[in-house]
Amino acid sequence: MSDYVNELMAQVKAKNPAEPEFHQAVEEVAESLALVYDRHPEYRAAKILERIIEPERIITFRVPWVDEQGEVHINRGFRIEMNSAIGPYKGGLRFHPSVNQGILKFLAFEQVFKNSLTSLPMGGGKGGSDFDPKGKSDMKIMRFCQAFMQELFRHIGPNTDVPAGDIGVGGREIGFMFGMYKKLRNEFTGVLTGKGLNWGGSLIRPEATGYGAVYFAAEMLGSKNETLEGKTCLVSGSGNVAQFTTEKILELGGKVLTLSDSAGYIYDPEGINTEKLHFVMDLKNVRRGRIKEYVEKYPNATYTAVDPTMEYNPIWDHKADCAFPSATQNEINLKDAQNLRKNGVYVVSEGANMPTTPDGVRLFLEDGILYGPGKAANAGGVAVSGLEMSQNSQRLPWTREEVDKRLQMIMHNIHKTCVDNADRFGTPGNYVNGANIGGFLKVADAMIDQGVV
Ligand code: NDP
Repeated sequence: MSDYVNELMAQVKAKNPAEPEFHQAVEEVAESLALVYDRHPEYRAAKILERIIEPERIITFRVPWVDEQGEVHINRGFRIEMNSAIGPYKGGLRFHPSVNQGILKFLAFEQVFKNSLTSLPMGGGKGGSDFDPKGKSDMKIMRFCQAFMQELFRHIGPNTDVPAGDIGVGGREIGFMFGMYKKLRNEFTGVLTGKGLNWGGSLIRPEATGYGAVYFAAEMLGSKNETLEGKTCLVSGSGNVAQFTTEKILELGGKVLTLSDSAGYIYDPEGINTEKLHFVMDLKNVRRGRIKEYVEKYPNATYTAVDPTMEYNPIWDHKADCAFPSATQNEINLKDAQNLRKNGVYVVSEGANMPTTPDGVRLFLEDGILYGPGKAANAGGVAVSGLEMSQNSQRLPWTREEVDKRLQMIMHNIHKTCVDNADRFGTPGNYVNGANIGGFLKVADAMIDQGVV
């Protein structure tokens, strides 16, 4: 590691203690940028990375709410407004008991580079709460979302900060939050993305992250004159990203063997076909059940409970060609990465944000795996959020075909940006460097143009 990265990381750790995910995200970018700084000392002199690391604004607030039994609950709400050099802050809201400032800072930091890669005018942000929506009634969800928006509304707006969904925040939650925002502001604007189709949402937005991750994998395979046709795939998660990753893999002729949730995973040797996927969609989105129920319906599949204290996650220990981690951060550790290699996996396209630990990433890169890091591979979601903002501004919805065509083109261009920058800075085939550098350059130039603000 260069002296620059060592010094920077010492400062970041001293100034942001107890935020390991944030340190991890910054270190990876800093290592890539060391290549750029050798040739472009002007970025270093202007302390661009140091400025990006420091959020422009962190908003923390109390979210008190009363459930239908009259019990009072108190959660903590956050919005990290990380960087607005190239557009309004943009990034999802996560509702999960693990949410804290460090996790949201890592996500907001990643978002800055990801949004830049899409080539759309969006800055980076992220937010959420330690609220746990799992197993809660619609009434509890609505009351919490309303209470959350009663504070957040004063900090966001269609030209300031435009949140979207993430873990635990889907169409239902966006609807409840949008309703409260509209009431408080008395205006109907594109302040959130992931809205319902009848009230300003974009076609393909729910599908976009998963579809995009598969398009990115297809681009990586295309660079070796291969396609997804006939490829076996391991997918983790069973939420929004995992479901539409599975849908697109099936459409492109691949076979999906696994899906999971935080309690365990299912392995279906016959493959999860369209009918089975619809069962999962109904199970997760309507009945709000657990993935374990899959094996009751399809007894040829097996369910394995997974405990987070295990040395490795057995979902990554099956023979396959491709892996699509689509659940959460650090879900692939070094042992998992080794298992993937051992089982013949040679394509990894990250639907989740930072799902692979740094030693796992290193192994993928050293072994020449086609490895698409989250900030490139899962940028399709925020890209279509950007398209939703454009449609809201125009007050004109586009067709499904139009949005999908644009999504494919954006993923193609992100892939090209990664490949070109990896080549240009002497690390061909390294999509990590390509994505970090490609995302950084546009933001850095905008920050230089706008002065020290
Ligand atoms: P959902 O809430 O729809 O689904 C999350 C899935 O991951 C669930 O199956 C959940 O299981 C599982 N999961 C969550 N936390 C853990 C954990 N700690 N350990 C194991 N499994 C876990 O979220 P999304 O599908 O929207 O998001 C998945 C990932 O994709 C996240 O990393 C998110 O940041 C990223 N992403 C999402 C985008 C989007 O547009 N939605 C855009 C870009 C990235 P359980 O039900 O048991 O909690």
